[in-house]
Amino acid sequence: MERILIGELSKHVGETVSISGWVDVRRDQGKMVFFDFRDRSGKVQGVVLPASAAMDIAKEVRNEYVVSVVGKVNKRPEKNIVADRQNGDIELEILQITVLNESEVPPFDITTDTSVVDENVRAEYRYLDLRSERMQKNMRLRSEFIHRCRDFLYGKDFVEIETPLLTESTPEGSRDFVVPSRLNPGKFYALPQSPQQYKQLLMTAGFERYFQVARAIRDEDLRADRGFEHTQLDLEMSFASMDDVMSTVEEMITTVVESLGYTIKQKPFPRISYKDAMETYGADKFDMRTPEEKEKGILAYAWVVNFPMFEKTDEGGWTFTHNPFSMPIPEHVDWLLKGENIDQIIAAQYDIVCNGFESGGGSIRAHKPEILEAVYRVMGHSKEDLEERVGHMLKAFKLGTPPHGGLALGVERNMMNLTGESYLREVQAFPMTRGGQTAVMNAPKPLSDKQLKELGLKVDKKD
Ligand code: ASP
Repeated sequence: MERILIGELSKHVGETVSISGWVDVRRDQGKMVFFDFRDRSGKVQGVVLPASAAMDIAKEVRNEYVVSVVGKVNKRPEKNIVADRQNGDIELEILQITVLNESEVPPFDITTDTSVVDENVRAEYRYLDLRSERMQKNMRLRSEFIHRCRDFLYGKDFVEIETPLLTESTPEGSRDFVVPSRLNPGKFYALPQSPQQYKQLLMTAGFERYFQVARAIRDEDLRADRGFEHTQLDLEMSFASMDDVMSTVEEMITTVVESLGYTIKQKPFPRISYKDAMETYGADKFDMRTPEEKEKGILAYAWVVNFPMFEKTDEGGWTFTHNPFSMPIPEHVDWLLKGENIDQIIAAQYDIVCNGFESGGGSIRAHKPEILEAVYRVMGHSKEDLEERVGHMLKAFKLGTPPHGGLALGVERNMMNLTGESYLREVQAFPMTRGGQTAVMNAPKPLSDKQLKELGLKVDKKD
């Protein structure tokens, strides 16, 4: 018999149908056995009546067994209708149960909110955790968010392009994860902290509008809202001003979150200078919602602009505040080229904040070699050093790179805003634990002697 989704059952009242899914709950009342079944589309109650041929098997089946069930869809009597529940007005009279797979007793209850369960246990059994209603909802919302962003960007002529994971270090201000090269012993790739340089090179390549749902991998201290891996909705546009990038992103966010049923506090998004933000909120990320608005899940977006381009290092030199590829605002390009008023140079940079998180950021980029050269000069790098670090970018800038700029949205931070979750792990399928252990699988772990030999590596024992 053809499988019917549980969410479609109410269209089949009076018919005998087949469903497949998991046993969500089983309640044995002696003469009758009640079940809630669950599939991707929802839940339904089923009952095995005293004379049913399915009674013997119903006594054996336990929670989380995978089953297919043949049953008759009955309308419930008026007094038994549960108005606020999906399929609350129907019930499956179970005629036959086939066990597709058994399940041991799960190590924690997945029919309730699992956020209270020990983090390491959740990570070890993440696939069970993901079965819970809240996690299903979060992951499906994440998928829908990405889907709608994609639709929007395709509609605006953006091209989706993947960039390499095994690459050279890109300076995003964090530590790299590195991968040894077997073919080149003693040499290493870096995993990308972002696709920054490749996306700029795609502008040189003439695509004009690029986006990617990209993994960004950074060896940073782990926090509630930060993991080693996060996903960015990464985009770049040629011939675009700050306003062009900001309004494209603002339109995308507005279209997507409103279509998902959310309310935005203020449109267009207010723009606040970095200086005012620091003076008003003491930080460049802030929450503008009233307690009532927090309650209602309203989204308060704002742009932060006019960031200083450089900040002092501990050693008294200068370093970039966002990334070294940003351009100063047009009025300050001259200062940069002459190396004057470094502390006053404002970057053509914009961050987007929402409900207390920095949910994205970007800038208009240097597209001429002399600008990037000047940035590295200010940071105290020699010509050779510059060549070594970004020589490939300088080369591309000399081969017809158009003016361009872009932005990356942090997918997890945006999802935390949409779901109201306070931890990154609630919106990622297989997050790491705070100790940096992978979910379900056992990494990091030592390499075998054979692997080490092949890679030309020796490990110093750390005590
Ligand atoms: N690559 C930047 C980042 O990861 C975003 C951007 O400037 O587009 O923060």
